[in-house]
Amino acid sequence: MDKTYLDKFYKMNHAERLNALVAAGSLTSDDLLLTNGLLLSDELADNMIENHLANYELPLGVALNFLVDGKDYVVPMAIEEPSVIAAASAGAKIIAQASGFKTTISERIMIGQVALKDVPDLTFAKNNLAQHKNNILKKANAAHPSIVKRGGGATDLFIRVIEADNEAGTPEFLMVHLHVSTLEAMGANIINTMMEGITTYLEELTGGSALMSILSNYATECLASALCQIPVDLLKRNGYSGEEVRDRLIEASQLAYVDPYRAVTHNKGIMNGIDAVVLASGNDWRAISAGAHAYASRNGQYRALSSWRKAENGDLIGQLTLPLPVGSVGGSISIHPAAQFSKRLLGDPSAKELESIIVSVGLAQNFSALKALVTEGIQKGHMGLQARSLAISAGATGADIEQVAEQLKTAKNMNLATAEALLKEIES
Ligand code: NDP
Repeated sequence: MDKTYLDKFYKMNHAERLNALVAAGSLTSDDLLLTNGLLLSDELADNMIENHLANYELPLGVALNFLVDGKDYVVPMAIEEPSVIAAASAGAKIIAQASGFKTTISERIMIGQVALKDVPDLTFAKNNLAQHKNNILKKANAAHPSIVKRGGGATDLFIRVIEADNEAGTPEFLMVHLHVSTLEAMGANIINTMMEGITTYLEELTGGSALMSILSNYATECLASALCQIPVDLLKRNGYSGEEVRDRLIEASQLAYVDPYRAVTHNKGIMNGIDAVVLASGNDWRAISAGAHAYASRNGQYRALSSWRKAENGDLIGQLTLPLPVGSVGGSISIHPAAQFSKRLLGDPSAKELESIIVSVGLAQNFSALKALVTEGIQKGHMGLQARSLAISAGATGADIEQVAEQLKTAKNMNLATAEALLKEIES
C-alpha cells in the first residue's frame, strides 16, 4: 500500500477519499464503481429479516495507519459515534511508528452445548458419554457433513456438571460441550445443527432429558490477542512527559482492573472499535459483545480486557485479548453489499486475519482513549464532532453547520440551547 496518497485523508471530500484509496492500492477502480450500490435493496433486506419496513443506516468510514503483523490496512468501521474513527487512526499512527501490532490467534474452535436435566445417575452418565465419545463426534459430523469435507468438524467433547443450588432454587444440569472447528465461518448454524443432531443420542446415553441444544457465544477456544510496545518519546502530550503519560496510562489500566465501574467504560471504549469493524465486516456484533463481556468476568469480577505495563527498557506495553469468533463467510457477510465492500478494502482477509485486524483496532482505541483521559481529558477531542452534531440537532444545514459548530467550540455552554441561539443569530 502506498500510504502517501492517504495524507490528510480527513480533509478530502468523498470522491477524493475513494480515489486516494484506489491510488494507495486499497481498492481497485472496479470496487469504486460498486460504492454507489452499497445500500441494501428492499428485496435483499426483506429476505434477511422478518417484517422488513426500511433500512436503518449507519455511517461507514475508514480508520487509517493500521500496521498489523507487518501489513498495512485501511480498516472499515460502521459506527454512529463521533471521534471513534479519529481516535483509532491516531492511536494506530503512534503504534505504527513503534513497529505496529503483533497478534496471536488461537485455533478457531467454537463450542456447542446440550443441557441435560433429570439425569438419574450422574456417574453412570458421565462414564457412558466418555465411552461413546467417538460415536457422539461421528453423529455430530454426520449432521453437518459439508464442514467435515472442508477439513473442519467436531473435534472433542467435554462434560460439565452444574450442581443444584437449593438457595437459588436451580436444578442440577449435565452440560455436554462439543468443540467444533468451523474453519472460515463463525459457525452458529453449523453448531446448532450438530447439537440438535446429537441431542436424542445424548438423552439415550444419559437417561436425562434435554432442555436445549445450542452454540455458546462464550467462545473461550477462539481467542485473539494484540500486543504493542511504544517507546516513551512517542507518548509526550500537552505538557506531560512520555514517562508521565506511560505511568498514568498504566495506572488507568490498573484502575480498570480493580474497579468494575471503570472497567465497563474502559471495555466500552475497546468495543467502540471492535463492534464497528465487526459490523462493517458483516459479522454478528451481539455475539462478539456478549462473549467479550463474559470473558472480562472470567475470574469472577468484571475487569479490563486490556492491560498496560512498563517494559524493562521503559517502553509502554499494551495487550488485549478477547474471544473473536468472526467469520469470513456465512451469515450476511456474503450478501450485504457494504460487508462485501469492507472485505475488499481489507484485501479479502481470512477469518484469522480479520481477527488480527479487529483485536488491533480494539487496542488502538483503548490506547487513544486512555492517553486522552489521563492527560487533557476526553472532551477536548470530542468537541469538534460534538459541536457539529449539536449544530445539526439545532436545525443547521449546509455552511451553517460549520459556522454554528465553530462558534459553539468557544461558547461558554456547548449545548443545544446555545446551538439554537447561534443558529438564530446567523440566520437573522
Ligand atoms: P452460515 O449458516 O451462513 O454457515 C456458513 C456456511 O458457509 C457453512 O455452513 C458452509 O456451508 C459455508 N462455507 C463456505 N466456505 C466455508 C469455509 N471455508 N469454512 C466454513 N464454512 C464455509 O453461518 P454460520 O454457521 O457461520 O452462522 C452465522 C450466522 O448465524 C450469523 O448470521 C449469526 O448472526 C447467526 N446466528 C447466531 C447465533 C448466536 O450467535 N447465538 C444463533 C443463531 C444464528 P457448506 O459447507 O454447506 O457450503
